Amino acid sequence: MDIIRGCAECKRITDAYESETMSWFRLEGHLRIAEHGRYKSAIDRIATELDAATRRRTELRLELKRHKQTEHFGGSGAAPLTMRA
Ligand SMILES: [Zn+2]
Repeated sequence: MDIIRGCAECKRITDAYESETMSWFRLEGHLRIAEHGRYKSAIDRIATELDAATRRRTELRLELKRHKQTEHFGGSGAAPLTMRA
C-alpha cells in the first residue's frame, strides 16, 4: 500500500494491516492442516476467524483510503467525512 512518509496515522494503519495479513496467512495454514485431517470443528472455527481477519483487512484498507483522502488529499473529489451527515 502506498502511504505518506512521516505520517504517524498512515504508519499505524499499515502496521495494523500488515499484522492482520500475517495472522491471515497463519490462519490459512491452520485451515489447510485442519482440512487435511478432516477436523470438522477446527475447520469451522478457523474459517470463522479467517473471515473476521479478511473483514478487518478490508476495513483497514478503507480506513487508510479515507484517511489519505481527508488528511492528505483534502479537497480533491469527495467531501471530508466530517462534512457528511
Ligand atoms: Zn497519513
